[in-house]
Amino acid sequence: MTAPSLHTGRFGPNFPGKRCGAKTRAGGKCLKPASLGTPRCLTHGARGGAPRGEAHGMYKTGEHTIEAVAERRLKADAGRRSMKRVKLATRMCSLMGLFTVGADEEALTAKNWGKLIELRQQLEALDDPVSADPV
Ligand SMILES: [Zn+2]
Repeated sequence: MTAPSLHTGRFGPNFPGKRCGAKTRAGGKCLKPASLGTPRCLTHGARGGAPRGEAHGMYKTGEHTIEAVAERRLKADAGRRSMKRVKLATRMCSLMGLFTVGADEEALTAKNWGKLIELRQQLEALDDPVSADPV
């Protein structure tokens, strides 16, 4: 097996500096000279991409910044949890017979109690800040 080709401009096979460690499709390493301060060459991300926020060239209203998107996701998630809370509470009320007009006593059977306890646990899990916080 021969050594990988290192014909990269003025940096020959005896270049003593750091080399890029990016993985190539062939399975080896890139081995072009790394830029100063990074372990990567210019082809593999040494420049670090575009600046964030208002400095980015495509910035217009701030609607699509990482922070704005994350905030929208949090709000949407809170809304979904809230809607789920309403549905669970409605189901619980229904099991307790609150929506039946005749108020027949068969509403709270032993089977319903089990379901009611299960729904209450689901409701409490929704309010649990540990499981509710997606961070
Ligand atoms: Zn590279």
